[in-house]
Amino acid sequence: METSTERLECCCTDNQATFLGHAFDRLGLNGAQRQLLLHSFREICVQIPLETDGPSGRLRTFTGYRVQHNHARGPFKGGLRYHPSVQLEEIRALAQLMTWKTALVDIPFGGAKGGITVDPSGLQRHELETLTKRFTQKMAPVLGEHQDIPAPDVNTNAQHMAWIFEEYSKLCGHRPAVVTGKPIELGGSLGREEATGHGVAEIAVRAARDHGLDISSARVVIQGFGNVGSHAARRLTEIGARVIAVSDVYGGVLCESGLDVPNATAHVEQTGRLEGLEGTEPMSNDELLALPCEILIPAALEAAIHCGNVDDVHARLVVEAANMPVTHMADAHLQDAGVTIVPDLLANAGGVTVSYFEWVQNIQQFPWTRDSVLARLDDRLSRAYDSVRSAAQANEISMRTAAYEQAVQRTLHAIELRGY
Ligand code: NAD
Repeated sequence: METSTERLECCCTDNQATFLGHAFDRLGLNGAQRQLLLHSFREICVQIPLETDGPSGRLRTFTGYRVQHNHARGPFKGGLRYHPSVQLEEIRALAQLMTWKTALVDIPFGGAKGGITVDPSGLQRHELETLTKRFTQKMAPVLGEHQDIPAPDVNTNAQHMAWIFEEYSKLCGHRPAVVTGKPIELGGSLGREEATGHGVAEIAVRAARDHGLDISSARVVIQGFGNVGSHAARRLTEIGARVIAVSDVYGGVLCESGLDVPNATAHVEQTGRLEGLEGTEPMSNDELLALPCEILIPAALEAAIHCGNVDDVHARLVVEAANMPVTHMADAHLQDAGVTIVPDLLANAGGVTVSYFEWVQNIQQFPWTRDSVLARLDDRLSRAYDSVRSAAQANEISMRTAAYEQAVQRTLHAIELRGY
């Protein structure tokens, strides 16, 4: 039987391989079962030519990806990322993470992820529209409301989803459920935009209580102030927490008495960055991660906490709002230091959960109220949290291993029920 995590490295990143390896070992999976769970169902790479404006007026060629990992529990589901660092291996690992996330919160979807290797800040709006629509044309045969349903991720938002909806509908007829995270006017769900950050905040509060921390005096530090980080900060301050520092790609800002989050959001809307926010001290992202605090929330990109900076982390709880923000070596180090990590597949599952609600509303052609969406979200997340927390306690394992174990078990069971 394969027990070494090394063999998994051909299929996903080292970090995910290590985390999954612990769950696979505990479940006693054999080599064939591991292969079945690790390999992608389908991996597609397309070329997207685009004539760009500007002095050069040149033809540029971009690469787009869609990796469909597993659909034993329902149609493939996962975001679409626009970033210069996008490459197949990263998309593959993120697609797989979606399979475990949808299984953990028990929504009837599988896992997928896509992206385009592009710096969107270097393109004009109409160029981004053409790029997105050409990507959709090429991917259309494998997309669909019962096949594969994209959503926003880093550097994509409701507008990109509207372009995908339009292009797909031209080819296949009116199909709002082919993407989620759409503008409300086009069938988007109330509560979707803030869903991931809202869920992160609710989970952080539950975890704080379980660790005997009083949320009203807890100091919270958040790296990343985009969709997820800013909504998590807003919700946490509404609940009464003290968010003392936040950052973006340009650096962080600190206010020991607690930031005025709506003011920070307005400042970012006006200036494009947190720098210069009135009443705060500037700091680097490295300094921000080293701040003494009760709750640290990495909400930017992967591998923010790694073996080079983990010694500087002084938090009681790390709540993974970003996907894969803690490397496996840093994870082991934090655990040894007694820090509890609430893993990404649980902490940031609010987004995909409300994406599921959006899909249901589109299929039924019956929109829900925001209160109803958020109440159902809180219910799903608390059930997943309770289940992971009690399994972790009962088996004396990390919340991450408990979460992976439940997700893997559910996925494997669905595969076995359907037959290979
Ligand atoms: P976003 O593009 O809206 O925001 C990203 C934020 O991180 C920005 O403030 C950016 O300035 C900052 N950032 C980027 N690089 C940084 C760096 N090197 N150091 C510090 N800050 C940096 O993206 P988002 O939608 O908020 O996603 C953030 C993370 O959450 C990603 O890992 C994403 O995969 C994950 N996630 C997002 C959703 C969602 O619904 N949007 C759902 C689940 C998981």
